[in-house]
Amino acid sequence: MKIHSAVFETSAPDLATCPRWALPEFAFIGRSNVGKSSLINLLAERRELAKVSDLPGKTRLINFYVMNGRWSLVDLPGYGYAHAGKQERHAFGTAAAEFLAERRNLARVFVLLDSRLPPQAIDLEFLQWLGQCRAPYALIFTKVDKQSATQSRANVARFTAQLAAGQPDLPEIFLSSAKTKHGRMEILGCIAAVLADKNRAAG
Ligand code: GDP
Repeated sequence: MKIHSAVFETSAPDLATCPRWALPEFAFIGRSNVGKSSLINLLAERRELAKVSDLPGKTRLINFYVMNGRWSLVDLPGYGYAHAGKQERHAFGTAAAEFLAERRNLARVFVLLDSRLPPQAIDLEFLQWLGQCRAPYALIFTKVDKQSATQSRANVARFTAQLAAGQPDLPEIFLSSAKTKHGRMEILGCIAAVLADKNRAAG
């Protein structure tokens, strides 16, 4: 899929203020610093669509972008900030959690994980919670340029082994690098396939 247009629509502090539209939404979420803003900019081929290393306060909002006038890219607040107080965790609870559990337009959630790290409890717990919400999700292992392909594959295998212990169906998995553009076409291809499925289902 080629991205012809990527336009910021709005920032919503909660589910009630999210846009009332029929666009299918593709949400991106991960822990702070995982490379979410860089990946969003890579997908959109815009330098500053999402601000890299944004101010902590701003990252609590749900940011909506309209892509090609056909679908929405949703930048969700992260979970498990390393230095967050209770208030910030609560902010995730009420905004992103509500969105993931209840938003009808949600077509796919992309959960970002740092490819350099062994499986982290906080990510596995989040995925378990997401599974209970029945939100359809895929995994993106970021920053693969920072290490060898063998090391990335080993971390992905360790992660999926842990995940498989808790759930029978493994999600789709992508590897990405904002530096080399690795994974861009595959992730956009996944979005295009979901959109095509929805169109077919709509008749
Ligand atoms: P966010 O907090 O999840 O939005 O993460 P950012 O996109 O702001 O990235 C955090 C840091 O990681 C920044 O210094 C980025 O330049 C760097 N970074 C993000 N993605 C990549 C990547 O794919 N490769 C490399 N080498 N660095 C990355």
